[in-house]
Amino acid sequence: MNQHLGILGGGQLGRMLALAAHPLGIRVSFVDPSTEAPAASVAKHHPGNYDDPQTLDHLTEADVVTFEFENVPQEAAQRLSQSTPFFPPCEALHVAQDRLTEKDTFQRLGITTPRYVAVNSPADLEKAFLEIGPLVLKTRRFGYDGKGQVVVKSVEEARTAHSKISGVPAIAEKLLSFDRELSVIICRAQDGNSVIYPIVENTHQEGILRRSQAPAPSVSRETETRAQEMARTLAQHLDYVGVLALELFDLGGKLLANEFAPRVHNSGHWTLEGARTSQFENHVRAVLGLPLGSTDSIEPTVMLNLIGSVPAASALLEIEDCHLHDYGKEPREGRKVGHVTVRGSTRDVAERRAEEVVRVIRESAPI
Ligand code: ADP
Ligand code: MG
Repeated sequence: MNQHLGILGGGQLGRMLALAAHPLGIRVSFVDPSTEAPAASVAKHHPGNYDDPQTLDHLTEADVVTFEFENVPQEAAQRLSQSTPFFPPCEALHVAQDRLTEKDTFQRLGITTPRYVAVNSPADLEKAFLEIGPLVLKTRRFGYDGKGQVVVKSVEEARTAHSKISGVPAIAEKLLSFDRELSVIICRAQDGNSVIYPIVENTHQEGILRRSQAPAPSVSRETETRAQEMARTLAQHLDYVGVLALELFDLGGKLLANEFAPRVHNSGHWTLEGARTSQFENHVRAVLGLPLGSTDSIEPTVMLNLIGSVPAASALLEIEDCHLHDYGKEPREGRKVGHVTVRGSTRDVAERRAEEVVRVIRESAPI
């Protein structure tokens, strides 16, 4: 009998998980309230809400249930985990869903973070500003792609910023001028063994990931080892199964943990063409108890997100060793609707191809 994987969520991550499961003969079904869920064209869709027990019960027929987004309601995760093997564990969701719990967990594990304090009122924020100076105020819950964040650079701003996030529980973090952002992606199996992808360098604009360079250039042995240690420590602490991404700030070789995602991650999309086994396939393998595959990089790779709209495939595919992933989503400003990966025999070759992709994106952008 073929194995059957259930997924909570059918966005592009669910779709790429389903595409990775397919050649392994694994059946995939998923729950997502949206009638336009990108995964619907490649897997069985059970439309409905995550708080509807009848909808969730469709997934209890699966051998294993996983999820592709962070804000899975705890009740849904708990309910499914009582009837069906459920990976990554609910605890990982619980920790990742709250930036304060997440940062406290990092601290407890000796994983260094930017300085932070809890903020529950404008007075808390003013006090935080006086203590740590320029800062980023972030909602504890539901933030993504830079949403729910306000940069505070003066006492005056500190007095008003909390109302800009509707006064919800938040954390204030020291505003860093880091050298660069890195991420490390680990995949841990049910027996506790793990594999780790080469470190990636990520460029964000307006809080949204724009490009990833893999492997990241100029990563010292010490930095690589430290990043791997951080990821391993966290995954082990959470008794984790599946792919986990840890986002890091690099300050002159000193690494500070920003946040982690208990799921496949945008900064791991390069692995589809750039690594021996993609993050999606390794996640599927891990949660279904199959052996993990090699995470070695094949060639230097650059991944570029397509934000807002997808340029003509014909223009992109003219570029050598260029791979398009169109998620089949309606174009909308600021929305991730696809990504492109280019490889090259050297980093320079990959970079030149990435520049060509940028040119095509720019030329095709709606005026
Ligand atoms: P999310 O990805 O959930 O929206 P992040 O905390 O990762 O939230 O923030 C998004 C981006 O904002 C980061 O990738 C980084 O570019 C920037 N950022 C976040 N925290 C800080 C900070 N303390 N100092 C400077 N820049 C930050
Ligand atoms: Mg982030």
